[in-house]
Amino acid sequence: MTDDDSSPDCEACGACCTYSWEWPAFIGPGDGDGIPSYLVEDGRMRCDGDRCAALVGTPGSSVFCRVYEDRPLVCREFTAGSDACRAVRRHFGFEG
Ligand code: SF4
Repeated sequence: MTDDDSSPDCEACGACCTYSWEWPAFIGPGDGDGIPSYLVEDGRMRCDGDRCAALVGTPGSSVFCRVYEDRPLVCREFTAGSDACRAVRRHFGFEG
């Protein structure tokens, strides 16, 4: 599935940043220049439990990524409305 008008609103979701199934979010070559060191651990985004430490807000309500402009490639390539997106949203009960 690709982006379309029925794609979820990422700013009201955050499921993909809160689910360890897709972790770790490795920081690869060219990634991470703007990511503060306190958010990095062993070459990946640091997590608090299953949740990326860069995620701010309440998943399912209102969230944002504090390093959005510099987020790792794995995050930039994750597609809203994809099968993986739908799966993590279902996990949290965000899919109707
Ligand atoms: S770096 Fe940002 S986009 Fe990537 S998992 Fe963390 S909060 Fe989500």
